[in-house]
Formats: sequence, structure tokens, C-alpha cells
Amino acid sequence: MTSVSRETSDSSSGGIESTNDVLRRIFGDSQSSLGADLLDESNRLQKVSNADFPRPPRTRIVAVANQKGGVGKTTTTVNLASAFAEAGMRVLVLDMDPQGNASTALGIQHPSGTPSIYDVIEGRNTIEDVVKTCPDFDSLDVVPSTIDLSGAELEIATLDNRTELLKEAVDSYIAATSKKYDYIFIDCAPSLGLLVLNSLRVAREVLIPIQAEYYALEGLGQLLKTIQLVQSSFNPDLDISMMLVTMYDRRTMLSKEVYEEVQRHYPQVLLKATIPRAVRISEAPSFAQSIIAYDPKSAGAIAYREVALEIAQRGAPVHEK
Ligand code: ADP
Ligand code: MG
Repeated sequence: MTSVSRETSDSSSGGIESTNDVLRRIFGDSQSSLGADLLDESNRLQKVSNADFPRPPRTRIVAVANQKGGVGKTTTTVNLASAFAEAGMRVLVLDMDPQGNASTALGIQHPSGTPSIYDVIEGRNTIEDVVKTCPDFDSLDVVPSTIDLSGAELEIATLDNRTELLKEAVDSYIAATSKKYDYIFIDCAPSLGLLVLNSLRVAREVLIPIQAEYYALEGLGQLLKTIQLVQSSFNPDLDISMMLVTMYDRRTMLSKEVYEEVQRHYPQVLLKATIPRAVRISEAPSFAQSIIAYDPKSAGAIAYREVALEIAQRGAPVHEK
């Protein structure tokens, strides 16, 4: 018995090699950058898979926001949520974008008329009525959105409590449900309108994805001003706690420059980990899956797990009250 277990765990004695050992044997002393990349990825996958995700003492509510479209808000929401669920956390995603891309990517169908966050915002349904579970992860729940939500901005505009609607719904759901969520992620629409204000009202943290592109920081000032306004007028609990550089391309100077620029301006909140530009990440939603479920060993899946781990290890911002 003893010798068998020693053999399987010790490659040098002729037993089964781990992926790492094979890569090291093939690429170990070569200068091949492909080999180095594969070895690096394999090491990182092993590290993040073995990592212990600390459970937050209370639910962390994170709005993923940036009024620019196409910067990676939805991709970040669904993949972080999946990475946390895979790590054993209980997670809820609120899809607050009428496009419903987060719902699609998490395998929840949402044709017009499906009971959704739209009905929750307008008081016809509770979150309990409309919440669904992601087919890939038992501990990941999703409140879907439908295109009908695009009418909500106008429909709620004259209500006195128009910025409180989501908060009231989330508070009553949390009070009523037996599920203890570790994380709630809110995928915001690309605007600074009432739906986003509702999202920032309920959140305690904001995660801002920044695309490694020209003009990456353009419009950021306006977003930060809006967040400060929300803080001072109706949500003192809110913190801009995180920025994440997405679609990072290691081969370009531009990506490096964008990262350094964000680091110079916002050193406290910039996450160390970045998300690479990767075709697999953009393919996953067409299979109604996150990258974590679609291609768990890919560079994108590894990167999103690393970001999740960094967020878990940083913990929620501490408020002095
Ligand atoms: P937003 O929600 O901010 O509008 P999305 O998350 O929908 O942005 O991303 C915009 C587009 O970029 C989508 O087609 C998505 O698949 C693609 N995308 C996002 N992140 C990556 C990435 N890391 N690598 C490649 N494509 C990406
Ligand atoms: Mg989106």
C-alpha cells in the first residue's frame, strides 16, 4: 500500500506524472514562450484550485458598474459569481441590464414577459417569486432581467421612492429567505440612470471594470462623481472598493500603460490580477455558460478565479461609523 501511494505521488520514481511534471519535462529547459506560458498557467491553476476562500462575515453586495458599454461588466459579473460559487460560496446575481446578457450567460432564459427583476422593481413580484438557480452551480442564484426592464426608467421616474425600489426588494428577500448569501453581484446597465442609482443604493461596494484600451479612463471621473453623490445623499455605506483591468493583452504596450495609469491614480482600489483578452471568454456566453463552467482550465477561467480569490482575501472595506 505504502509503496503504491509513494509511486503515484512521486514522478521521479516512474509513477504517474502530474500535468506540471509533464510540462516541466517537455519545456523545462527550453526558451519556448508557449512552454513557459503553459507551465505558468498550470502552476497558477494549481495554486488557485488549492486556495482557501475565506467566507465573508456578512453578505458582500457588489455593484459592477461603468457607464461605458463593452468594458466587461457582464463578463466580470457572471465569471466572478461562478468562481465564488465553485469555491463553495452562496452567490446571488441581480441582472439590472435590460439586455439580460448576464441571465443568458448563466443559462437562464429570459424572453420578454418572463417574471423578472422588472416585475420586482415595479412591485408586482418579490425576488423569491422570480429567482432561478444557475444550471451549472447549485449555490448560484440569478434574478433574470428581460428587455421589458428598458421601460422601467420612465415608469418609475415619478415615484417618490424611485431610488429605493431595488433596496426594499433585496432587504425583504434577505430577511425572508433561509439562504445565507456570501456575495450578491449586481450587473449594471451602461448608463448612470435610475436603474444604476437603484443598484448603487443597495450595494456596499462598487467594482469598476476598466478595459485596457485607448480612452480607458475617459468618463471615469463622471462615474466616480455619481458614486460620491450616491454616498453623500443616500448610501453612506457605499465604497468604491475595486477596479479591475479587463481584456488585458500582455503583448501590447498599451495594456501595460493602461494598467500603470490606473495604478498611479487609484493605487488602493486597483486589483493586482488582470483579465486577459481571450477568445474562450467571449465564446462562453453563446453556450449559456460562464468561462468557469465552459472551459475551466483556460487562461480566462484561471484569471477570474484569481480575481475572486483576491477579492475574498481583501475582505469588505471597513466602515468607521
Ligand atoms: P459590458 O457588460 O460592460 O457591456 P461585456 O461583459 O458584455 O461588457 O463585454 C463586451 C464584449 O467583450 C462581449 O462581447 C464580451 O464577450 C467581450 N469580452 C469581455 N471580456 C473579454 C475578454 N477578457 N476577452 C475577450 N472578450 C471579452
Ligand atoms: Mg453588460
